[in-house]
Amino acid sequence: TWGQIQDELLKSVGRNNYVNWIEPLEFSGLDDSGVATFLVPTQFMGNWVSRNFGEQIRHQLSAAGERVVRVEFTVPNPRGDKPAAAKIASKPAGKAIRSVKTAKDDELPGAPLDQRFTFDTFVVGKPNELAHAAARRVAEGGTVTFNPLFLYGGVGLGKTHLMHAIAWELQKKSPDLRVVYLSAEQFMYRFVQALRDKDMIAFKQLFRSVDVLMIDDVQFIAGKDATQEEFFHTFNALVDQNKQIIVSSDRAPTEISGIEDRIVSRLQSGLVVDLHPTNYELRLGILQQKIEQYSEQFPNLVISDGVLEFLAHRISTNVRVLEGALMRLFAFGALVGREITLELTQDCLADILRASDRKITVEEIQRKVSEHFNIRLSDLIGPKRVRTFARPRQMAMYLSKQLTSRSLPEIGRRFGGRDHTTVMHGVRKIEELMQKDSQIADDLELLRRALEA
Ligand code: ADP
Ligand code: MG
Repeated sequence: TWGQIQDELLKSVGRNNYVNWIEPLEFSGLDDSGVATFLVPTQFMGNWVSRNFGEQIRHQLSAAGERVVRVEFTVPNPRGDKPAAAKIASKPAGKAIRSVKTAKDDELPGAPLDQRFTFDTFVVGKPNELAHAAARRVAEGGTVTFNPLFLYGGVGLGKTHLMHAIAWELQKKSPDLRVVYLSAEQFMYRFVQALRDKDMIAFKQLFRSVDVLMIDDVQFIAGKDATQEEFFHTFNALVDQNKQIIVSSDRAPTEISGIEDRIVSRLQSGLVVDLHPTNYELRLGILQQKIEQYSEQFPNLVISDGVLEFLAHRISTNVRVLEGALMRLFAFGALVGREITLELTQDCLADILRASDRKITVEEIQRKVSEHFNIRLSDLIGPKRVRTFARPRQMAMYLSKQLTSRSLPEIGRRFGGRDHTTVMHGVRKIEELMQKDSQIADDLELLRRALEA
């Protein structure tokens, strides 16, 4: 019984953890497919328990003789206005998700949307105001003006969040609208599956019948020729029908190498907006919003003055890292049951703080590369075009693009005032060579490791 299993868990997780995280769980049932469901008071708690104790719970249930393949944590109707309970699966590291429901739901090829990713929870600041405004505009529906909307920016800056927000908004306004959101990877997976099952006609019909198509992380299809081809046709068919398309990528259309020119030009034909790395103000705003969001769930939590400012200063631009840090602080504060001070913060987040301290610079990359190839720094940066200098130079440009947050023009400036197109050409050249020249791939790997050490 759950009672006996609780006793076991008490032994394995310790009293503090037990009282805070296990005791509040309510066993709800085990279905035929081996999914055990628990009710949790809050979404945060579900996430936390899933990530930290999900596997142990599953293990204990199995040890008690039940066939359990997965453990899910469900919030019983979080708010009145949300139709379904938020489900938090134990694997992979629980996100609260719910599929878009429409009348024809079963046929839609999309991926589930994250309930937390709405416009309400998206904090707007200078670095993302354009992207946000464009997303808002598209979410109004009606006449299609920007097609496609192309959102790009570094990892963890809110691309997926904005896309889901658009989907929720459109769905709210017109429940019958066929909105499909999926990653480029999932698109490829479905495409390959259709090929294998000789089901291409159904695949084409399905994707051509949606009203709004969102493809996340489109850079994934670079180099995947057949998938690109199919994407191109789907894209054209939808644009011809005046259906909205929204695409995201980790870089600008022209910077994605391994994508056909005609696709690049298609991707650029609507509105292209980028999300810039967050600044201090935006990070602080996001932290404040999260605190507010979680304050109901942690009424006794006290955060000392200066902790948020400290976090906003010290944690990198990636919002996902920032959120993770805050979650950990909350959980820690709840466990130890005392005020979260600056000191506690530094202790608790030592690893994250260390990692975001480490910023690789273009200058460092240039130094390492010139050492590695045994050439002078002045030759690496200088104007000489002989292969012995040009190739290492391109590799240094490539690494600068990969490992720093400098833009192409900024990198160009640090390479003797070169033009951004030269840098782009260099980066592309290396990306291309990496595929066929294992020596170059090895050199890059070595350099990367040396730089990240
Ligand atoms: P990307 O898709 O660009 O890698 P995500 O959209 O997945 O990034 O965002 C990463 C995390 O950061 C998500 O949990 C998201 O809710 C959060 N996030 C990013 N930007 C913002 C923002 N401006 N306001 C609130 N949360 C944000
Ligand atoms: Mg994303």
